[in-house]
Amino acid sequence: MYSSKTLEYEDNESRKLTQSETEDCKNSILDELPKENIPAEQPLIWRNVIGIPILHIISIYLFVTRYHEAKFWTWIFEISYGIFAGLGLTAGAHRYWAHKSYKAKLPLKILLSCLYCSAGQTHLTKWIRVHRTHHKYTDTSADPHNSNRGFFFAHVGWLMMKHHPAVKEYGKSVNMSDVAADPVIRFFDKYYPPIMLSLCFILPILIPVYVWNETWIVSITATLFRYICTLNGSFSVNSFAHLYGTQPYNRNLKARENRTVAIVSLGEGWHNYHHTFPWDYKAAELGLHHFNLATAFIDFMACLGLAYDLKTPSSEMINSFCAKKGDGTASRNQTRNRDTAIK
Ligand SMILES: [Zn+2]
Ligand SMILES: [Zn+2]
Repeated sequence: MYSSKTLEYEDNESRKLTQSETEDCKNSILDELPKENIPAEQPLIWRNVIGIPILHIISIYLFVTRYHEAKFWTWIFEISYGIFAGLGLTAGAHRYWAHKSYKAKLPLKILLSCLYCSAGQTHLTKWIRVHRTHHKYTDTSADPHNSNRGFFFAHVGWLMMKHHPAVKEYGKSVNMSDVAADPVIRFFDKYYPPIMLSLCFILPILIPVYVWNETWIVSITATLFRYICTLNGSFSVNSFAHLYGTQPYNRNLKARENRTVAIVSLGEGWHNYHHTFPWDYKAAELGLHHFNLATAFIDFMACLGLAYDLKTPSSEMINSFCAKKGDGTASRNQTRNRDTAIK
């Protein structure tokens, strides 16, 4: 069974990675976990079973009936706000905190935390633990959003029930010491409810009303619709990008390369690559020109001196993985680009 060795890399960042260290990792604990779902009691979380569909129905209804009333600047504002919230998830919680794929200075950490909170998901520590568990036990019963349980479960169903007992049991082995020691995470986790409510809902409703005289109902509609779009952009990585697409880097992984997901998730759809090289700050072989806004953001932050030590594998390592483990689809486009880069 394959597992992304994300934690092993994080534990000892200074040493140089070799291909053998990134290749298939046989782990005695993992070997005990079958791909099939182990039957277990998972009580429903009724608040989410009822709340998530109602949120979607109301948001979509309001959007369909009110979108034509929205002022030009409301469109610009909400789209931009959604993109920045998405960057908090992708460049922040995912690539910086969960994978430590680059280093960030304090102002950037604070900015990423604020952007993350404006996406309105959950406490940073919880998000990071879930994601690291997903990588360590991908598509087994210990994976919080195990895609072997179908599209709906992987997309949103997993949020409607308590975690599978294996997630709790095996999740304990995930190293979270760096997260526990991070004062920025501790602060934002401690004050998460007021910060999240302010940045995700209150502020983006007030700004259009008071700055360019948008109506309350349109501003609320725009905020709710932006919120569900950001949520589903994020969910789609766990569902679509684990079920539909190619596997040019490792055919043994369920994670796929999915261009559409890359667009809606700001660059997280190159998921076969990401599970193969989870410590690459680009989360893709190719950079910002390949539907990867989060990479452009990190590169820009690096230009400002706020991000540094950006990790990425060599072309040789990537080519070797494609040749040995790829499904043969190794996208011609990517192959061409690799060849050009090598020349
Ligand atoms: Zn995944
Ligand atoms: Zn990841």
